[in-house]
Amino acid sequence: MKKIVGLLLCFILFSQNIHANSTSVIIQNRRTNVTPVKVEVNGNNLQSKFAPFAYENRTLVPIREITESMGANVAWNNQNKTAQISLGDKKVLLQINSRAVYINGKKKLIDKGSIPVFASYPKENETKTMVPLRFLSEALDFNVEWNQEKQQASISNIKTVSVMKTKDNQVSSESKPSEKTNNKAVDLRGKVDASDQVEPEKREISKKVKAKGPVTVVIDAGHGGKDSGAVSSVDSSVKEKDLTLQVTSRLGDLLRSKNYEVIETRTRDEYIGLAKRAEIANENQAEIFVSIHFNSSNSGLASGIEILYAPEDKVKIKSHEQVHLAKALHDELKKATGSTMRSMKKRPDLAVLRWTEMPAALCELGFVSSPEDMKNITQDSYIEKLAQGVANGIERYVNNYVEFE
Ligand SMILES: [Zn+2]
Repeated sequence: MKKIVGLLLCFILFSQNIHANSTSVIIQNRRTNVTPVKVEVNGNNLQSKFAPFAYENRTLVPIREITESMGANVAWNNQNKTAQISLGDKKVLLQINSRAVYINGKKKLIDKGSIPVFASYPKENETKTMVPLRFLSEALDFNVEWNQEKQQASISNIKTVSVMKTKDNQVSSESKPSEKTNNKAVDLRGKVDASDQVEPEKREISKKVKAKGPVTVVIDAGHGGKDSGAVSSVDSSVKEKDLTLQVTSRLGDLLRSKNYEVIETRTRDEYIGLAKRAEIANENQAEIFVSIHFNSSNSGLASGIEILYAPEDKVKIKSHEQVHLAKALHDELKKATGSTMRSMKKRPDLAVLRWTEMPAALCELGFVSSPEDMKNITQDSYIEKLAQGVANGIERYVNNYVEFE
């Protein structure tokens, strides 16, 4: 009897727990209670204020966050409501509210529960494009595991990472995702690893960066070539890949005039993989890496600047405290532009932040989906302010955190 009561109590507590964890979203004009699900990508929690959730027994994840952490590119077509997601040589085309999907041009039907949908999060007042995690992961050659107890989905892309890497290096690879030891060996030469979480090991973390000569800064214009990045919903001729290049080209000039050694990951409209971008910084032993991006939201309501970084306690490759660069950029951008500053976010899952060895930050310099931000970012004088803000942030960081030997 005691056992039964115990079990019953467990069950009640458990169901209450589930109930307490449920969240409310609006899908196809219907308010629906859904259970948030934890998602792990290569051992890192997917970070988003828009929680992935279980819907009709499938896990739906916000497209932007999941593709970013997978290292994939997404091109959104607002007219057809389609998203093309590409990683390596795989291309997946999904359409909102449609069962038809295309994998490298081949049509497939996914089940009803996996249909991509728009979900509105009333609390955040934002609409997100949600895509089926399992389908997307498998289509892009990720392994998927589901932990019922933790209500957690874990995906890993060891094979894809190594393919991406070898593509950059023009070397062939036949790693299989099922062979764990093999994975580790190929896995970006030990630099990026599914177990790249911090272990209780002694690791020296320093606040200051040591520089021998002039400080080398790698500036990274996000996206490029076939990957346009976010396309403005206000004016479709405005693409993230062009804006980022405008900023980095101006920023490069500013930094060179202050005697920095500047390396740009790209100076023209070309496609460069995420691994390659990090590799450029690592191989040149840069002291600082700054990636430039612009943001987008479906609702058009979000606006302002945010700075992302991968805290050193979450990424084993880092041996410097990361937050200081983000903070310097945050404060100087605020001063230079007068724009709304949204936040500084910890994003250990983002490839360029996670794979770079030096202090690194990613600046999202405004929303191309926001009419308010668009008024600014389409003007040269404002691009100049953004570049100036980033340059000042770098300068401030160097003054406070770089020691010359
Ligand atoms: Zn971007």
